[in-house]
Amino acid sequence: MLASNPPAAQWPHEGAISFVDVSVVYRPGLPPAVVSFSAELRARERAAVVGRTGAGKSTLVLALFRLTAYSGRILIDGRELQSVGLERVRKCITIIPQDPVLHSGTVAHNLDPFEGTPRPELLAALQRAGLPPEMLEQAVDKGGSNLSSGERQLLCFARALLQKRPVLVLDEATSNLDAVTDEKMQALLRTDPNSGSDSDPDPNPNPNPNLTLTLTLTLTLTQP
Ligand code: ATP
Ligand code: MG
Repeated sequence: MLASNPPAAQWPHEGAISFVDVSVVYRPGLPPAVVSFSAELRARERAAVVGRTGAGKSTLVLALFRLTAYSGRILIDGRELQSVGLERVRKCITIIPQDPVLHSGTVAHNLDPFEGTPRPELLAALQRAGLPPEMLEQAVDKGGSNLSSGERQLLCFARALLQKRPVLVLDEATSNLDAVTDEKMQALLRTDPNSGSDSDPDPNPNPNPNLTLTLTLTLTLTQP
């Protein structure tokens, strides 16, 4: 659906998310994957959705990203996502999936497909994600098949740090990491991933004046 009334240029300015009575049926005749899910997530809040396997956690992510149809309403800063162009919706959300697929090319190309980011920033993002700087020029095979699944997840972390989008969604994003690396990524996420320093206690909601938005939500999807 095309947006007949596009949101203001600064949308989303806060990143508050509301799910109102959201249900998803993948195909007629199938039981619903999500039934009447409602939640309020305030701006800059980190929230976790926990449920057994098959409970519908990833389906919620697909609905948020508008990769599947839903009934009910999902609003970011008061705008129902189905009234916003798909491109606008997807540009305000970064997703770190359970099993990321990368593009063939180099690590640098995967971090910055449009190649506008200065090299020092790419290196800093790699470093914050716990990957070695020499990896930047490494070749990536189709789908990222020459990297381990943990390395692919860390590259997605690095890419998320660079994208600086207002909504960050993690779908079991550390499931392929060892315990120490998992803990490091958790610590990174407990700070503001957009602040540029792992040790910042996030005192300033917008520490980078070049950013209109910083991280507002981490929807961490975990199994019990
Ligand atoms: P896990 O913890 O195993 O990742 P989940 O909570 O993320 O599980 P979903 O992947 O959201 O669960 O799946 C919810 C339900 O929807 C399951 O019953 C699943 O079989 C079904 N489902 C998921 N994707 C599809 C699809 N593309 N078509 C039809 N049914 C699907
Ligand atoms: Mg899932």
